[in-house]
Amino acid sequence: MHWLSRWPQAAAPRIPRRGWNRRFALAYETFEAQRPRAGSLARRFGLALALLGALSSVSAAPAAPPLTTQEPLSDTVWQRMAGRSWHAKAGCPNRADLVLLRVPYHDFDGRERIGQMIVGKAVAATVGKIFDEIYRTDFRIFSIRPVDDFEGDDQASMAANNSSAFNCRAMTGGTGLSAHAQGLAIDINPAQNPYVKGAKTEPASATALDQPAERAAAKDIGLIRPDGPVVAIFGKHGWKWGGTWTSLKDYQHFSSTGR
Ligand SMILES: [Zn+2]
Repeated sequence: MHWLSRWPQAAAPRIPRRGWNRRFALAYETFEAQRPRAGSLARRFGLALALLGALSSVSAAPAAPPLTTQEPLSDTVWQRMAGRSWHAKAGCPNRADLVLLRVPYHDFDGRERIGQMIVGKAVAATVGKIFDEIYRTDFRIFSIRPVDDFEGDDQASMAANNSSAFNCRAMTGGTGLSAHAQGLAIDINPAQNPYVKGAKTEPASATALDQPAERAAAKDIGLIRPDGPVVAIFGKHGWKWGGTWTSLKDYQHFSSTGR
């Protein structure tokens, strides 16, 4: 394995807020997003070009905010999904119907990061716009990693306060396939935005934030508010929020299907 190919496998790298390291980090992210073949001469040449580009922009204005990019599922990503978020059973989408997004966000410490999210190809461009707009607000996201990093276990992903999209699984508390199964739903900051049905709150750590009055009074970072920017941005692009449901509340959940 080429040493450079190890970095993108790790948790999202930090991007410095300013200076040369920021330029190189952003250039590297852009280069990674284009994903030439590992170890090839073209890959090394491409990286050299990307770093030269960073050098030559020395007199340019401050770097523009990074934008979400999308790419087909690589063999590595697909093999990691099999048996975790994807299963060879009726209702799960084809590989070609899903894409990997690299999503810029601000973490709970305000640092810029690039997350990875798998969504339906049909909604990928819209989801990219949504996260590019969220990035330009002060809203913070704890982490964005495919649920495969949690063995496809939604409970484990929620317990880790992870935000994710695709998972070919049943609806929470139901038997039909979830909108997540087509990559048409996204959960954000579950620890601040729980799923609440009757006496059940998931994740269980979020019971202090499961009632409307508690949520209105709370100051927690990453809490999604009815009148806040996240609901407004998703709504502008036609996505519905589970926080408006009446039979139950799913404060972390947005979907293009309304379910
Ligand atoms: Zn959800």
